[in-house]
Amino acid sequence: MERQFTKEIESLRLGDGQTFHGEGILAVTKALLQSGVAYVGGYQGAPVSHLLDVMVQAREYMDELGVHVEACTSEASAAAMLGASINYPARGAVTWKSIVGTNVAADALSYLASAGVIGGTLIVLGEDYGEGGVVAQERSHAFAMKSLMWLLDPRPDLATIVKMVERGFELSEASSTPVMMELRIRACHVQGSFRAKNNISPATSKINKLDGPPEDFIYDRLAHPPATFRQEKLKSEVRLPAARRFIVEHRLNETFTGEESGVGLIVQGGLYNGLIRALRQLGLADDFGASRIPLHVLNVVYPLVPEEIADFAKGKRALFVLEEGQPEFIEQEIATILRRADLQTKLHGKDCLHMAGEYTTEVMVRGLARFLEKFSSRDLSPGKSWLTKNQETREKAATLLGALPQRPPQFCVGCPERPVFSAMKLVAREVGRPHVSMDVGCHAFASFEPFSQGNTLLGYGMSLASAAGVAPMQAKRAVAVMGDGGFWHNGLLSGVASNLMNKGDGVLVIMKNGYASATGTQELISSPPEEARASAAGTSAAHADRTIESTLSGLGVKWLRTVNNYDVGTMADTYREAMTTEEKGLKVIVAEGECQLERQRRLRPLVARSLSEGKRTVKVKYGVDEDTCTGDHSCVRLSGCPTLTVKDNPDPLRRDPVATVIEGCVGCGLCGANAHAAVLCPSFYRAEVVQNPGGFDRFVSAVRRSLQKLFQ
Ligand code: SF4
Ligand code: SF4
Repeated sequence: MERQFTKEIESLRLGDGQTFHGEGILAVTKALLQSGVAYVGGYQGAPVSHLLDVMVQAREYMDELGVHVEACTSEASAAAMLGASINYPARGAVTWKSIVGTNVAADALSYLASAGVIGGTLIVLGEDYGEGGVVAQERSHAFAMKSLMWLLDPRPDLATIVKMVERGFELSEASSTPVMMELRIRACHVQGSFRAKNNISPATSKINKLDGPPEDFIYDRLAHPPATFRQEKLKSEVRLPAARRFIVEHRLNETFTGEESGVGLIVQGGLYNGLIRALRQLGLADDFGASRIPLHVLNVVYPLVPEEIADFAKGKRALFVLEEGQPEFIEQEIATILRRADLQTKLHGKDCLHMAGEYTTEVMVRGLARFLEKFSSRDLSPGKSWLTKNQETREKAATLLGALPQRPPQFCVGCPERPVFSAMKLVAREVGRPHVSMDVGCHAFASFEPFSQGNTLLGYGMSLASAAGVAPMQAKRAVAVMGDGGFWHNGLLSGVASNLMNKGDGVLVIMKNGYASATGTQELISSPPEEARASAAGTSAAHADRTIESTLSGLGVKWLRTVNNYDVGTMADTYREAMTTEEKGLKVIVAEGECQLERQRRLRPLVARSLSEGKRTVKVKYGVDEDTCTGDHSCVRLSGCPTLTVKDNPDPLRRDPVATVIEGCVGCGLCGANAHAAVLCPSFYRAEVVQNPGGFDRFVSAVRRSLQKLFQ
């Protein structure tokens, strides 16, 4: 696991009146317990991974409360967990990264939304939209609308976030509808505090068990025809009005008055902090965040409450809607509301702002200025000069620094996936470049230089499935790469089973690094057991498990090889064989090497303990003999390791920079293996740094020094 949450787990125990300090996503975790949640599940993914990670690590305390925590194998299984709240008055929460996770969970969500719930259900979505986003840029809003589930978007302030979690469960129960809560990266990581309450041990839980299913079988709770037809009507005729009533009665949305009463701003709750900062730059908000322009903050972005919007619009010449992402669902709905209420208030939003992409403070200042120029006599020069100053700073930096080199994301130092792509690159020189379907995970970094492999990316665990259409059209075998996380998430069924059923003839490389590494090294069904990790100092813990191989064999994969990643020569031979063998059918290479990030986290404390106990420890380092280095940098082009770089040539008669290994090398061995497999210049050396040396080490060292002296 990426982090130890010891301090955070302690703060989950805070009670009435105590102050919780921390980040937004942990406030959500605490609020779930304050709401009496009975079960929690999810699938990891930024920016909401910490919610489940903390709950998993706090298992002992969860057991005390009777809360069941499930680390689900996909978002679909997490969504299906919420089925517990259809028949029983148990509150449940699940979490995942959106939009990708919501796509995966779509089937279960539709059925859940159709059946409705009696126990409150909350789906916490990491809305990965904007400049820090790493997934397809879409909005969860569309899912809420099409299934008629409610969508919260709380103002990024811990007390508001906590209130919305607690009210979210109540809203869900009041309207028999699942509730989603979208949290952008900034909301998840916003720091703050709130006054805590006691946690509630759920009335129905794994401690307070149910005797069995409901006494009366209620057919209408099953999302199955003919019940689905009635449920479809209930959504708009009963549940939607109930939700709107609850939103109004409990003031979930917030209206702030302001002296500039002729205009008004309607904003998604999640954008509130950025908006206040933008108004501050324009001189329209004070240092404490009080706006001079009236604001209507939508902590619930779906459904809107027509009466609330109409009330806010009344008496105003114009409204400006700040809605991030496309299309402008909220703005369109507000236009309909104004029209139906026969209000002549002018409506602006996307016409003053860009349609797609993140609304940073600068973007909002520009948009607000365009809107206010038309409808207000306010002096907007502070905001405009702030924008000009920013632009001047950028131009000055560009003049002084020139064009900066791009910095695409990279594998970690010593990553076990790098050698596989080195081998694939070497073999491509002989057999030609194949079509490579990439998957979601660390290996997708191989799309960038120096590997430049990966022609498509269609989703988590989807690489082999996405090669199905293209493979028959290719003269060379198509290759799919997926991680062990993707394999268990979706790849086994969508990819492998489908390929076998259709008698496909491709190559699948599975990166078996032991964890769901890209999301924080969470555990998988094939993760090495705890004991193997605790004792395996110096060996690859990924070797301890053979679940992937036995599953593939059981499914009928005939051509199956497991190769140590760092053995580039064997990897290249195996990959070449897979690409060229006459044998038909799916060929799977399980590339085995523990995630180096997790390996180092695991080894560092073990090494530190050995050192403090005075035990002998050996650290391997690689280096480059600068006299031998030819300066052609083939090694750099074949590796891409950040610690293998270049420096000025110390020889005044040679101008080409030489390769060098800098501090940070973890001694993974790739440099040596590449030099050997690609027959590069013999400039690499392997050194062992011995700490707490024994008598024999000292003797060998003394002999070496004497010999060196003699020959020199
Ligand atoms: S997290 Fe692990 S698998 Fe991912 S790039 Fe780093 S070392 Fe490689
Ligand atoms: S041995 Fe080479 S590839 Fe491995 S960590 Fe050191 S410099 Fe990087």
